[in-house]
Amino acid sequence: MSNDLTKPAPSHFIKNIINEDLKNNKNDGRVHTRFPPEPNGYLHIGHAKSICLNFGLAAEYSGLCNLRYDDTNPIKEDVEYVDSIQEDVRWLGFDWDDRLFYASDYFQRMYDYAEDLIKAGKAYVCDLNAEEIRRTRGTLTEPGKESPYRNRPVEESLDLFRRMKAGEFEEGERVLRAKIDMSSPNMNMRDPVLYRISYAAHHRTGTEWCLYPMYDYAHPLSDAYEGITHSVCTLEFEDHRPLYDWTLDALNYQPHPQQIEFARLNLTNTVMSKRLLRELVETEVVDGWDDPRMPTISGLRRRGYTPEAIRDFCDRIGVAKSNSVVDIAFLEYCIREDLKMKAPRVMGVLNPLKVVITNYPEEGIAELSAENNPENPEMGVRPLQFSREIYIEQEDYMDNPPKKYFRLSPGKEVRLKYAYIIQCNDVIRDDKTGEVIELHCTYDPNTRSGEDTSGKKVKGTLHWVSAEHGIPAEVRLYDHLYLEEEDSGEQTLNPDSRIIMNAIVEPCLQSSAVGNKYQFMRHGYFSVDPDTQQGDKIVFNRIVSLRDTWAKMQKK
Ligand code: ATP
Ligand code: MG
Repeated sequence: MSNDLTKPAPSHFIKNIINEDLKNNKNDGRVHTRFPPEPNGYLHIGHAKSICLNFGLAAEYSGLCNLRYDDTNPIKEDVEYVDSIQEDVRWLGFDWDDRLFYASDYFQRMYDYAEDLIKAGKAYVCDLNAEEIRRTRGTLTEPGKESPYRNRPVEESLDLFRRMKAGEFEEGERVLRAKIDMSSPNMNMRDPVLYRISYAAHHRTGTEWCLYPMYDYAHPLSDAYEGITHSVCTLEFEDHRPLYDWTLDALNYQPHPQQIEFARLNLTNTVMSKRLLRELVETEVVDGWDDPRMPTISGLRRRGYTPEAIRDFCDRIGVAKSNSVVDIAFLEYCIREDLKMKAPRVMGVLNPLKVVITNYPEEGIAELSAENNPENPEMGVRPLQFSREIYIEQEDYMDNPPKKYFRLSPGKEVRLKYAYIIQCNDVIRDDKTGEVIELHCTYDPNTRSGEDTSGKKVKGTLHWVSAEHGIPAEVRLYDHLYLEEEDSGEQTLNPDSRIIMNAIVEPCLQSSAVGNKYQFMRHGYFSVDPDTQQGDKIVFNRIVSLRDTWAKMQKK
């Protein structure tokens, strides 16, 4: 992506529309938006963009934003989703006060309005089945064919519609259609279906209704009932706007909210549709909707993303009128930015290799001091214990190092962070495999950090954990759920999206609570996973590594 996303967009076209409306005192100067999820899955980061936009506009213009469930399809909806949506919106930092609504609350009103449309000759009951309706719809280049039921008497339509409601017909046997224009260049205007029959139980209204309104009919009415002024939705609804307007204009319904479309958020290396996400859950590719690899809000929360980082991300990507794909590296950039000053920096060894400091006293313990965040001195310092046996990363030792390898190898010296300079003298190997299992080193007591009088200069600094004091931890490292998209647009699951390590971490992490976030030196940012409560071992999710591919891309 060429444009610099690190600069927040000051304004956008939706604000321009609102400013213009305010100038003209449209809607008496009110701004009232809504976030209208269908409770058929968990919310994802794309929804977060819509939430930030809708609640954000309301806040900016001292207006209101409703949370409304668009629950007009009983087959796919569930209370589990209803509950998770509220939790996610609240967690993102937004509040609908007492304005929590359900389209299903309006079923009676919508039904009455449909009867009025029939009476006005603007809707009719059609006996064609779904397949016949599809076949007679025409194409983009050919007009559709009028239904043979289009001109049936109003009284007959009204009677049939009431009997549809009474449950006298089978699913698919009859529908209610708007009488608009079968030769409209806009396919959505070719006598669209307004109501269909379904005997599925609804999660709120149970079996009270067997007649359900279609989205294109229910949405404008719900907006109007709630006094919504600006009905913000994604671009795929642009072609539906004439139907949105028709529905409200047909009976001259006031107030008449304005539908405004913006580009939906797409991210690289993941999928962003509830249908595909549900598939991942159902086929157990992931552990659930809140699997830390998922782009769901609950997945990002569990991974360790903060609401601040997600809101910041949504602000910075801005609001546009044409679709684009945002690099997932930019989302990662935003969480690094947020945690940089907030997260304590600690040491954790993911791939432990034991080091014995042979000239250090057996029972000796040095009380060192470590900065909690060198970039944010206000976070203070913590005590850190040093002892004769410590762990370093296996990767920090090499028998035959290449040039510019500034870590440990035979005879070489490195600094242990916040502690001493050590020198590698002996390497203990497994008799059979030859694998390095322990290093024997000596330390120089004159090199203690902050009090170094040795004048020694070493290039490498390693993180480490005292063997006696360190605590075991499970560390889950994540990579993108999908590999780079191929030219064909094909997306391939990343087989290595999760790697589990048995790590040893600083003792100060012993009592950290679920959701606490840390920077592990040289490894990235981590968050305590809820699984920690079930076992004795503390479980960390890596939120993101320290390597900032986004910043690198910007420099190119
Ligand atoms: P999906 O296609 O992922 O199932 P949806 O649009 O069907 O999403 P809804 O529950 O209908 O999901 O969405 C609620 C609101 O969130 C709608 O206004 C929709 O336009 C918006 N929204 C959904 N996905 C995105 C996205 N990727 N970017 C921005 N807004 C989105
Ligand atoms: Mg939808």
